[in-house]
Amino acid sequence: MTNKLKYFIGNWKMFGDLSSLKIIYQVHKFCARFKRRGKKNKIILCVPNTLIYFFTTKLKSKFISIGAQNCHHHKTYGPFTGSVSASMLKKIGAKYIILGHSENRSEGDTGQLIKKKIELALKQKLNIIFCIGETFKEKKEDKTFLVLRKQIRDSIDKKYNLNKVIIAYEPIWSIGTGKIPEIQELKKIFIFIKNEFKKNFKTKIFPVVLYGGSVNDSNIKLFSSISEIDGFLIGGASQSSKKFIDIIKNYYK
Ligand code: PEP
Repeated sequence: MTNKLKYFIGNWKMFGDLSSLKIIYQVHKFCARFKRRGKKNKIILCVPNTLIYFFTTKLKSKFISIGAQNCHHHKTYGPFTGSVSASMLKKIGAKYIILGHSENRSEGDTGQLIKKKIELALKQKLNIIFCIGETFKEKKEDKTFLVLRKQIRDSIDKKYNLNKVIIAYEPIWSIGTGKIPEIQELKKIFIFIKNEFKKNFKTKIFPVVLYGGSVNDSNIKLFSSISEIDGFLIGGASQSSKKFIDIIKNYYK
């Protein structure tokens, strides 16, 4: 088992209230014990905006960072009812932000809008978790690489601080369905994404690339054979401290 830094990022989606602090406490307690065994990992929980300030002030954890899940594409303040900007999220303690999630793309987030959001979030010194992934139809039509290439090119600019951009490969057909890609196929996709990034942005940086889609404590071990996977974006299973902790434990078993 590699000792490379691995990311375990929870995407709580529309879940949680003030009582959910206990989930974070459990994860914190686990991390405090686990770190001592020398595993290098980074735990990030991307929670609803309503909880960011509460969690960051209540929990002073050096093991867990708190992130947001989306923002508006306009900077600072403006007449956008119901929206929040990257700068507002930064001010209440967010360190990371998920952008380009397929659930937001399906509600109108285009490559161009996501690009604006990334730019604004980077200006706020937020770390970006940029989601890409193909639909089942695109996969069947052998368009996965084409789709991923376009999503990367549409929203990432080589002038960005690429060290602050994490890519999350999340096949849409896998999110919340219990289906996961074939391991050999997944390895090829990870190599493609990393090479594409290097080639396109003429950078020496190999980006951090995560896998997301129906990760759970039973299938996590399958992914550990792919050295190119730098970590995981975990949706449903991150809403339970036990499931989230079991994923981390089983990954290293
Ligand atoms: C997600 O929505 O980012 C995700 C990975 O969801 P799930 O783990 O529930 O498939």
